[in-house]
Amino acid sequence: MYYSAITKTSNEDYPGKICGVVYTKGCNLNCAYCFSKETLGTQLISQDEVFSFLKSRIGKLDAICISGGEPTIYKDLYTFVIRLKMLGFMVKLDTNGTNPEVLEEVLPVLDYVAMDIKAPIHRYEEIVGCSVDTRKIEKSIKLISESGVDHEFRTTLVPGLTGEDIHEISKSVAGCRKFVIQLHREEAEPQSKESVFAIMEELRRNPECEYCARGL
Ligand code: SF4
Repeated sequence: MYYSAITKTSNEDYPGKICGVVYTKGCNLNCAYCFSKETLGTQLISQDEVFSFLKSRIGKLDAICISGGEPTIYKDLYTFVIRLKMLGFMVKLDTNGTNPEVLEEVLPVLDYVAMDIKAPIHRYEEIVGCSVDTRKIEKSIKLISESGVDHEFRTTLVPGLTGEDIHEISKSVAGCRKFVIQLHREEAEPQSKESVFAIMEELRRNPECEYCARGL
């Protein structure tokens, strides 16, 4: 496993917990709006640095969030999670859901998982900028929804994604614990935001799932 960066303390990356964030290097998608492009291609920190940081935070952090890049491109993700648990941390995984085989292995040892859903299935390749097996995306949604592990699905409202798209995505995660819509740092089109607000109102009438917005 290769690492690109660390956030020493965060109260935003794990709901209700103080956590550190370890970012893994590399991703199998090519989203035009990627926040991590500058760190995706370069290994900036060594494994020794990562574990020296982790040991220094024992008793000070509740949890570690593994983010990317895309952590599930690494077959040794499970081993890394186990090492974090042995140090006493709760563990959250951020994933794009493209590797359900790795996800299935690691889910039983996670405390929280957040999966990005980039677009409705028929627009996936357009939004992520490369070919993608959307059956794997659907399989990951199912695995997470049925896992019993605390979770959220989240969609970034990037320019070009419409309210209708958000509605379609929300249907694909119906019954999940939490669906989050977050604003991209580039302003989404106002009409798109308005229609999302209307959809959020409608979704909130469904008591089975928590719907929330970040940055809108
Ligand atoms: S999945 Fe995430 S890390 Fe990968 S290219 Fe898209 S935004 Fe960047």
